[in-house]
Amino acid sequence: MKALVFEGPRNMQYKEVPTPEPGIGEVRIKVKAVSICGSDSGGYKGGSAMRTPGLIMGHEFSGVIDKLGPDVDGLVPGQRVGAVTNLFCENCRDCREGRQNVCVNRAIIGTTMPKYGPYPGAMADYVIAPAKKIIPLPDHVSFNEAALAEPLSISLRATKHVKDIVGRTVLVYGAGPIGLLAMQCLRARDASRIIAVDVVDARLDMARECGATDIVNSKTQDVVKFVEEMTNAEGVDIVFDAVGAPETINNGVEIVRCGGTVVWIGLAVPVFEFDYKHAVCKEITFQCTYMYTAEMEEGIELIASGKMDVGKIITGTYPMSEGAKHFELIAKGESSDIKIILVND
Ligand SMILES: [Zn+2]
Ligand SMILES: [Zn+2]
Repeated sequence: MKALVFEGPRNMQYKEVPTPEPGIGEVRIKVKAVSICGSDSGGYKGGSAMRTPGLIMGHEFSGVIDKLGPDVDGLVPGQRVGAVTNLFCENCRDCREGRQNVCVNRAIIGTTMPKYGPYPGAMADYVIAPAKKIIPLPDHVSFNEAALAEPLSISLRATKHVKDIVGRTVLVYGAGPIGLLAMQCLRARDASRIIAVDVVDARLDMARECGATDIVNSKTQDVVKFVEEMTNAEGVDIVFDAVGAPETINNGVEIVRCGGTVVWIGLAVPVFEFDYKHAVCKEITFQCTYMYTAEMEEGIELIASGKMDVGKIITGTYPMSEGAKHFELIAKGESSDIKIILVND
């Protein structure tokens, strides 16, 4: 089969590799849509232990079941499916206590994990997944939409961490896919005002379509001043940081009201200086959020019910054979796409 193989930093090759065979309890999926995640493009640039040379990336995908391995019941070839890509162990303490998202033994389709190692992903003609991870797709959910159930689940989990959203003023840093899908979740939960902050106007326009009531380009506007004026210097109730850079994390402390909540999702810069004292004295609640547990199944239902319009954020659909080009455009900062889907012919 053909696959996009990550050969090393800034080096992705579309080439012939052996077609994988499904093992016991596994199915082979003919990939119909796979999206490029920010973590994939970060890995492509190098410096991520989760993307090692030789890996086929792709953890946001959908397709059609092509072949069943031994001992698979309840699924049939030809079935349209998505798959939960977090293959947790079910036995460790975190799994048993409901934190399957941080299971130390887990594999993730399309990534290299410390204990499990590399698991080939869906940027290929075919991908293997355990049968129990398969989510059958309702007929009216498209392959492209289904591929976005994975990033939706991350935004969904992030917003579910906050119980009280109705009528609240919320600021979202970052109008990339995770921020935009978080805005859709916040709109669905009746936040009264959703302020989107980004540095790219096209993304801010998309933010409006995803539920933002106010948009701020932090390149040309002062976010702190904007929030002060809007809230009478009180601050916003909740901040979702889908960026995770020193400026957004520190400004988040500045603009959230005393006793407010800040949710950390983004991981742009791993280590930096943080105004800790200011945060303590405002008695801010910090909530970290990472991946998802059972939110993918819920995400597919939300897409199927029409409550979420994930397809909206897809700005480019390209053949898999052009994948390497798009990875390079993203790395150079020359891609104007918000979310890219790669498709097989
Ligand atoms: Zn992802
Ligand atoms: Zn586990």
